[in-house]
Amino acid sequence: MIYMDNAATTAVRSEVLEAMTPYFGEKFGNPSSLYGSATENKKAINEARRVIADTIQAKEGEIFFTSGGTEADNWALRNVAENYADKGKHIITTKIEHHAVLHTCEYLSKKGFEITYVNVDEYGMIKMSELIKAIRSDTILISVMFANNEIGTIQPIGEIGRIAKKAGVLFHTDAVQAYCHVPIDVNEMNIDFLSASGHKIRGPKGVGFLYVREGIKLSPMIFGGAQERKMRAGTENVPGIIGLAKAAQLESAELLQRIAKERRARDYLIERVMCEIPFTRLNGHRVNRLPGNVNFSFQFVDGESLLVMLDMEGICASSGSACTSGQKAPSHVLKAAGLPDEIAYGTLRLTLSEDTTREEIDKTVNVVKKIVTELRNKSEKQKMLDE
Ligand code: PLP
Repeated sequence: MIYMDNAATTAVRSEVLEAMTPYFGEKFGNPSSLYGSATENKKAINEARRVIADTIQAKEGEIFFTSGGTEADNWALRNVAENYADKGKHIITTKIEHHAVLHTCEYLSKKGFEITYVNVDEYGMIKMSELIKAIRSDTILISVMFANNEIGTIQPIGEIGRIAKKAGVLFHTDAVQAYCHVPIDVNEMNIDFLSASGHKIRGPKGVGFLYVREGIKLSPMIFGGAQERKMRAGTENVPGIIGLAKAAQLESAELLQRIAKERRARDYLIERVMCEIPFTRLNGHRVNRLPGNVNFSFQFVDGESLLVMLDMEGICASSGSACTSGQKAPSHVLKAAGLPDEIAYGTLRLTLSEDTTREEIDKTVNVVKKIVTELRNKSEKQKMLDE
């Protein structure tokens, strides 16, 4: 099998699994219990919090564990709506956010909030002039994803943070695809809320965190016990939290070498495909893109058929966002970048990891080339038959 879908999820690192395992066995205690073996678990959770805080230059008390990126996104947006509505009811976001943000915005708009969806250009970069123009005296939040899950475009987060700060508006970024894939400093970038997830960084699924800048009003995500300083009740996912912290520690320590390696592989893949397969468009920004992300649209090709045929050849890939697969509507991200539906339908996302080899890339390109040619020939024949 060739795994080219690391934006959907990643394989857990062996060191992460090793760090988690005792918490399923001898270290099974409830961190809220008062005997020694259980309080050790409480300490381990707080050590994990410290490790994670260090990876984004945050303070330990600014990290709240969640069940993943979706929950962190929901919490950030709903919290600002709840606590800052007296200042205003206007939120700014973009058209290319993950559904965890978009559907929360939809919900908030039903509750009387006004949402402005800023456009992106053909490379998926936010239109900064539109963003600046959209800010009003009643704007309470700007939420812009750090990097897009489909096309990999990285937004100018530092610049957006500066603008938000100057305007006195809170700033949330969904960094699920960016965390441990690009360097992040919440202070330098003036980020007030940041969402991240374990399973995109070779950690476990079902765990993530929300960073909340100290001093910002925060309401509980869920009510119950005193866990997470009464902000996110429920017995902690101890193995998950330990695994998340281990993955974050290892992946951030190796970040720069990994970026260089993945970029080389990514650029080689892009070059081969763009040179060897005609009528192909590279989606996303050529330079400001995630190191492991490649996204092509092949004209005259049905992306779903391409995926099925790749699967039969043992290649795991995606047509866009895993969360929307199964839906026949073309991706909202590609639409926002101005792609006509018929081209958007022929989209293939390949997302690499540092373990992706040159041989795997060569095999993938050769297979994609063969299938694209086959599908184009078929559609050409079909067209003739139809005529
Ligand atoms: N935000 C982005 C940009 C994502 O890519 C994803 C997952 O694909 C999520 C949020 C949701 O994260 P999780 O799967 O941890 O809930």
